[in-house]
Amino acid sequence: MSMEGYETVIGLEVHCELKTASKLFCGCRNAFGDAPNTNVCPVCLGLPGSLPVLNRHAVELAIRIGLALNCAVKPSNFHRKNYFYPDMPKDYQISQYDEPLNEGGSLELPDGTVIGITRAHMEEDTGKSTHLGSSGRIHGAENSLIDYNRSGVPLVEIVSEPDMRSGVQARAYAAELRAILMAVGATDGRLEEGSMRIDANVSVRKPGKPFGTRCEIKNLNSLRSLQRAIEYEAQRQVNLLEAGERIAQETRHWDEAAGRTGTMRSKEEAYDYRYFPEPDLVPLVPEEDWLAEIAASMPALPKQRRQNLLDLCGADDQATKDLVATVVDRDLDPLVIEATLAGAPAALALARAANELDATAGLPSGPSFARTVALEASGTLSATQAKAVLGVLATRPTDDPEAVAKELGFEQLSDDTLLTTIAAVLEANPEEWARYRDGDDKLAQFFIGKVMAATKGKANGKAVVAELVARRG
Ligand code: ADP
Ligand code: MG
Ligand code: ZN
Repeated sequence: MSMEGYETVIGLEVHCELKTASKLFCGCRNAFGDAPNTNVCPVCLGLPGSLPVLNRHAVELAIRIGLALNCAVKPSNFHRKNYFYPDMPKDYQISQYDEPLNEGGSLELPDGTVIGITRAHMEEDTGKSTHLGSSGRIHGAENSLIDYNRSGVPLVEIVSEPDMRSGVQARAYAAELRAILMAVGATDGRLEEGSMRIDANVSVRKPGKPFGTRCEIKNLNSLRSLQRAIEYEAQRQVNLLEAGERIAQETRHWDEAAGRTGTMRSKEEAYDYRYFPEPDLVPLVPEEDWLAEIAASMPALPKQRRQNLLDLCGADDQATKDLVATVVDRDLDPLVIEATLAGAPAALALARAANELDATAGLPSGPSFARTVALEASGTLSATQAKAVLGVLATRPTDDPEAVAKELGFEQLSDDTLLTTIAAVLEANPEEWARYRDGDDKLAQFFIGKVMAATKGKANGKAVVAELVARRG
């Protein structure tokens, strides 16, 4: 079966857990991974008589999200969204309904495509249930366990317009959104811990025709599953239409292991949430001064940071763009900028940051990174040696790179030793040398490899090539 003649239409609803110290309406700790049911109180357990108090920092983070997504930040209201589920002890969720905090924005993908943002509103998270049994879902479970630590954790739900047209594009949107949310300090971006959860609305149509009936795939928790689920779902819908059937609007779940979506509930079973204004909270009307203060303190967003690095490198080829994307994604751009300001070549600093630095292993200090790149650029250290020095700086970030190089036995080869080694290598490989002399430049790499092996990586690749060129005449 193919998608030939059809277009996929996607709108995403992304739930982002805010990185606050405490929950949205009480003082309980907001932390992932604590012992179950230890961060709870009468408010987030929904005990009678308890009253919510809005967390100011959560509102600030929500506003930052709105500003980063070019939304209008507006006076808003909280509503009760009523339904029963064991992980929601109050039997209603405090959310925003027809007066959300942020409305009408946009997000630009790295390729320049603009995706509309319908709204980004505040709400509280539910508790977390774990269903024991082979299905992992409530149906067929032998027991269910509930942890209320997550109950009342602040969330912002970001709803997009149905502007995406493929699984790949939806994935790019989710990745860029995640980068923006992390850049404004709203989240740690750990999808696998559920700090960003994605619902994908998917429909198909013949191009130019009105939108088709959509299905909503719930709770995708990795970029890879998001793309796979959308591609599977779009194909399923096309197959149904091609077989002369109709699409039923429904909520579906994604089975990662089986690689398919399945029915959760149909439209007829859809909840009637009976929204009504939350009587225990006053309207949320951010003061103008505060809004201005937040706007003034907005950090540079990923798109701007990528452009800054490209400008610094004076290049915009795809290879450089890929390195730049990696570096900004890992928050390494400040190191590259510092090294460049200290005189290191930007392109080399960029390549070393993208390929050799790993925050989980430890990062070098700005000056140590800058110095290592400068030593490599001047030829004092070979590429191999510079990488080894960076490896050591991971655990000893402020060490002097020259001292580390010495410790690793990376004294520079004397010119004499280098020349004798090259002569020996050429003598041992006469055929390759003949081909190189006849103009097969690729063999330079072969000789560098041999010289490196003979000198245990101490030779400088550029010096080897210079000598080869000189000998070729
Ligand atoms: P609901 O409140 O039922 O979730 P919304 O109108 O708020 O419905 O839409 C939710 C999401 O579904 C939005 O992201 C929107 O862009 C997307 N969406 C709406 N219609 C379609 C469609 N026909 N195909 C794909 N996505 C759609
Ligand atoms: Mg929805
Ligand atoms: Zn609490």
